[in-house]
Amino acid sequence: MPTVLSRPLILLVDDTPSNLQVLVEALQPYYEVAVATDGATALKFAAAGERPALILLDIMMPGLDGYEVCRRLKADARTRDVPVIFVTARADPISEEKGFELGAVDYITKPFNVATVRARVRTHLTIQGLLDELEALNQRLTERLAELTRTHEQLRRSRSREELCTRAFESTADGIVVTDADGVIVAVNPAFTRITGYRADEAIGSTPRLLKSGRHPQAFYRELWRCLIETGHWAGELLNRRKNGEIFPELNTISAVRDERGQVTHYVAVFSDISMIKNFQERLDLLTWYDPLTGAGNRLLFMDRLGQAVALCARGGTFASMLLVDIDRFRLVNEARGLPAADRVLGRIAERIRQQLRDGDTLARLGADDFALVLPDPCPTREAAARYAIEMAERVRDEIARAIGFDGAELHLTASVGIAVLPDAHDDTAEEVLRRAETARHRCVAAGGNCALFFESAMGKQVRSCFELEQELHRAVNDDQLELYVQPQVDDAGQICGVEALLRWHHPQRGVIEPLNFIPLAEQSDLIVRIEAWALDRLCALQAELQARGQRIGVALNVCARHLRRAQFVEEVLAAIARHGISAAALTVELTESVLVHDVDDVAAKMRALSGCGVRLSIDDFGVGYSSLGYLRRLPIHELKIDRCFMAHAPDNADDAAIVDTILAVARQLQLDVVAEGVESPAHVAFLDSRHPVRRQGYYYGAPLPAAEWLKTLQSQ
Ligand code: C2E
Ligand code: CA
Ligand code: CA
Repeated sequence: MPTVLSRPLILLVDDTPSNLQVLVEALQPYYEVAVATDGATALKFAAAGERPALILLDIMMPGLDGYEVCRRLKADARTRDVPVIFVTARADPISEEKGFELGAVDYITKPFNVATVRARVRTHLTIQGLLDELEALNQRLTERLAELTRTHEQLRRSRSREELCTRAFESTADGIVVTDADGVIVAVNPAFTRITGYRADEAIGSTPRLLKSGRHPQAFYRELWRCLIETGHWAGELLNRRKNGEIFPELNTISAVRDERGQVTHYVAVFSDISMIKNFQERLDLLTWYDPLTGAGNRLLFMDRLGQAVALCARGGTFASMLLVDIDRFRLVNEARGLPAADRVLGRIAERIRQQLRDGDTLARLGADDFALVLPDPCPTREAAARYAIEMAERVRDEIARAIGFDGAELHLTASVGIAVLPDAHDDTAEEVLRRAETARHRCVAAGGNCALFFESAMGKQVRSCFELEQELHRAVNDDQLELYVQPQVDDAGQICGVEALLRWHHPQRGVIEPLNFIPLAEQSDLIVRIEAWALDRLCALQAELQARGQRIGVALNVCARHLRRAQFVEEVLAAIARHGISAAALTVELTESVLVHDVDDVAAKMRALSGCGVRLSIDDFGVGYSSLGYLRRLPIHELKIDRCFMAHAPDNADDAAIVDTILAVARQLQLDVVAEGVESPAHVAFLDSRHPVRRQGYYYGAPLPAAEWLKTLQSQ
């Protein structure tokens, strides 16, 4: 029953039952009342049970008297705060002072005045209530104070942390940039200024792009931002540009700063200038990867690059090569001149080889006088890789063979080069490739040195003979080994109306070589340009001779795409015409349809320029190649040549006959001249005779002859 429970409990302590009786009657209507008839019981009750709100305590009692009980109550923490009112007979020899000293709050004298008892009790309970409240208030105040003290302490500490952070920000050796969420710089530290050269007021308000070096592709920055946005962090090396323009490497860590809702509010970048470390690393790299004597790579670098080349080829299905270069009998240089001198020679050799390298090629020194080259440029075929390898091997051998001026004398050296093309098998490795090159090099040494050999000896032969032929062809042009042959063209009445120039090569060892065996080779380089320029000159000379004799016979020259593509082509043709004083209309330039594949505009412009000057243009091997006929209408073309492959079976094969007839129909429609090639037999002649008038060329009328010889036959006719 809450009302009952909420009533304060009063403990009455008295050994006189009548006194107790009065007090109980006086208080019971208002309070819960408990009684004890001696001091010991009172103490036990007060300490153990429900704490009384007030104790009325008789002083004079047998056993423990009231003073002692009060002393003990005040000594016990559990009861210390319970107000005690002494109850005493007026006649008792009491010392009020002693009672108050012991902690009593009041005295009530017997006999009791009930109203007084009630008033006193009520007053003291009220006072005690107020005291309790005060106490609670005090308690709360104390707690609040403690809390305030704590907060203050935290504040003090965080202020000093803030100061510490500021000091760290100001004095750290790393550059720090703080941007807002949009990347606009809001703070930089002094190290930033020291490293980049930009003052804070120059940087703030700008973005970190201020430092951009332009050395990283756009994709690099995209990746950086992706990482930053996804993970909140990015760390790595950046190349940035100082205010003075200098580019420097930095190690950079960028972090996103988020607020309590997880929104990015700032980015903080901390970076250090690592150019010193980089320089050091470069020096270290130099020692790790390079041979200090020659500056060439060492074996470690070589195997690394060779491995990369193997991997590259495996991925792309392409081919590359490596060379192993051994200076023949270099031991003798060592013995004759001493090691330091021999070292200088090696340095010079390395330098010479280096000059021959393309971008991406690697030169290394694997042993005392062993050099090695990786030629990693991917080639579409094994043959192409081999061709480049042999070319390089010969260039290197030439460089080594050049006399080396040395201590006033000349040193003549030769080299053996082992060549390996890679990959050999799909699971080829760098070690395997090197082993093959070594085998090839051993073969060179066994053959007496001073040569270059492939590991794949079969391929070597073919590539080598091509290579040698090309080298010889260069010489052939200078040494007048080429000869102009001509083959006559006749009209439908059998009258000679023209000749086509066809070249022959008088090889000093191999005899006469047909154009199909050297023109394609020459077309791989500008050699063809020299050859055709030579042919043009000879042919114009022939035409001049014909004109001098009053012969109206045209001359035709084959021109390949590579030659036509040259910027000066038109001028050179016109110059030759002028030089020999011939009529431009007497010259026909034969082009194949393949020239129309690339850069049609350029080709068309040149054709118009030539045609504008009167030069005739003929499409050679017509119908063999590209079948877009649209160009026939747009380009200034005068003649079509029907290839001999169509003519060969035209008389007895309906399909080939149909092709020839179609070409003839197209030509008639476009009003073009036609030359039928490969006219070998009377059947061919009869076939053509039954068609519209067509010019003819072929063995039936005459095989190609040396120009001078043909001139003689012409005279005798
Ligand atoms: P082409 O321009 O188609 O030359 C015609 C080829 O057919 C010549 O071969 C000629 O000897 C051959 N021929 C002529 N009449 C007959 C015949 O009745 N029957 C057969 N089966 N063949 C006949 P050649 O002289 O061996 O020339 C081959 C090719 O070499 C030429 O084909 C031409 O494309 C090229 N060529 C020759 N000289 C030059 C040149 O100075 N520059 C360029 N770009 N190519 C040239
Ligand atoms: Ca031709
Ligand atoms: Ca032809």
